[in-house]
Amino acid sequence: MALFPFVLVALEKDKYDKVLINHEKIHLYQQLEMGIIPFYLVYLGHYLIQLIKLKKHHPAYMNIVFEKEAYQNEWNLEYLQDRKLWGFWKYWTR
Ligand SMILES: [Zn+2]
Repeated sequence: MALFPFVLVALEKDKYDKVLINHEKIHLYQQLEMGIIPFYLVYLGHYLIQLIKLKKHHPAYMNIVFEKEAYQNEWNLEYLQDRKLWGFWKYWTR
């Protein structure tokens, strides 16, 4: 879990999981751009909209714009070096 400026991991071994840490760092960038409170308000709002639309937790979670950006780029460990400001925006309409 990313809570700016920290990445919180459940297990000690997760600290060494580069893909997981990259995923959470993408969320840190998103939080930095939006501000922490607005990030969580939009995150929750987008989740609820997706939940109403899709009726199930997991697909709704995976459709949150911030998760889409993070999951689609977590394996690219250089993603944050090339990422544009508000990089999540292009995932909003998909
Ligand atoms: Zn995530």
